[in-house]
Amino acid sequence: MIYTIPSQVIYGQDKYDQVNQIIETLALENVLVITDKGLLDLGLVKSVMDKLRISNYFVEDGVMPNPKDTYVNEVAKLYKDKAIDGLVAIGGGSVMDAAKAINVLLCNNHDIAYYEKHPVLNPGHKLFAFPTTSGTASEVTGVSVVTNSLEHRKMVILGDHVKADYAVLDPSLTYGLPRHITASTGMDALTHAIEAYVSTLATSFTDAHALVAIKEITEHINKYDSEESREKLMYASTMAGFAFNNAILGLVHAIAHPLGAHFDIPHGVANAIMLPEVVRYNYDSSEKFRVIENILETNNLYEFLKTLNTQLGIPALSDFISPENFEIIANSTLLEPSLHMNPKAVNKKDVISILSQTYGVI
Ligand code: NAD
Repeated sequence: MIYTIPSQVIYGQDKYDQVNQIIETLALENVLVITDKGLLDLGLVKSVMDKLRISNYFVEDGVMPNPKDTYVNEVAKLYKDKAIDGLVAIGGGSVMDAAKAINVLLCNNHDIAYYEKHPVLNPGHKLFAFPTTSGTASEVTGVSVVTNSLEHRKMVILGDHVKADYAVLDPSLTYGLPRHITASTGMDALTHAIEAYVSTLATSFTDAHALVAIKEITEHINKYDSEESREKLMYASTMAGFAFNNAILGLVHAIAHPLGAHFDIPHGVANAIMLPEVVRYNYDSSEKFRVIENILETNNLYEFLKTLNTQLGIPALSDFISPENFEIIANSTLLEPSLHMNPKAVNKKDVISILSQTYGVI
């Protein structure tokens, strides 16, 4: 068995001193900062960059949620001749994934779609990821999720060179995260932990991280005003990443990806919406659901998750799609790689039935 975490994780007191020591050792001179406009306007980018000893940097702030292939290809072309020697990603999963993909393209020769099917041969520049949401754990995974804009599907680009070298966990970057984004990104992290825990690739190593993450996320996700809870949520989200980077995911993500790619539903919202019915579908296939129930002190995980979604104000599937869209989602779901790690086999009828139950039409 192999257990991999591709990034060094820096967290706790004095972290910026530690980051600066690394920056000095690397002697970075020309750094590309990837972020989005919202975070730039909020001052979060400035608050990080003011603490880093990097004198010369460009800011690229055009990342949109569910980042597209066209965007990362364009940005890489723009900066390929600018002698970039390091990257800093400040943002949520969209920003971190875009940064990982751009880094691949800066140091290799094809457009991003090529690397869905081919290995990334050359390592990228050193990449520092500062997550500002507690959800995707992209800061510690060997994966970049990029939307194929022609085919309306999410491509999973993976490999040893698709990563952030340094994950810098500064919970204060999430103190101002709006409640609805805290809720949906937190539910993304919970989905990672649950899917990794019941995955067919789960091991004792992934189980340990997944179970801690499940407990901590459910305990802290809705304590929006507590800095301690924001910190716990950030660390738990990263631990869920340790788990799913190795055990991979399952049916919730296999449905959430097409929901994001076809209808631009925010990733965490799509996961939160689908999680209860998928848990109900999978429930009898793994004793591990009973372990989760014990930890959460409930005898009905499905009802627990439905109630949690309601408390968090997660929107309904009907807010985004209509039943005539089920067919296209089901067809795309069956092509998703994470389906193979789901603890129970799935066919098209099953997916349509899960969508229908989630939607409330049966
Ligand atoms: P996001 O990065 O798309 O951000 C959502 C919104 O939150 C944006 O408008 C952003 O500006 C805002 N935001 C982020 N941090 C903020 C803060 N501190 N304060 C105020 N606003 C803030 O959301 P996400 O859920 O973090 O990322 C989703 C993406 O990550 C999807 O594309 C998904 O496919 C991908 N993903 C990747 C992995 C991986 O391992 N690489 C895993 C799961 C999901």
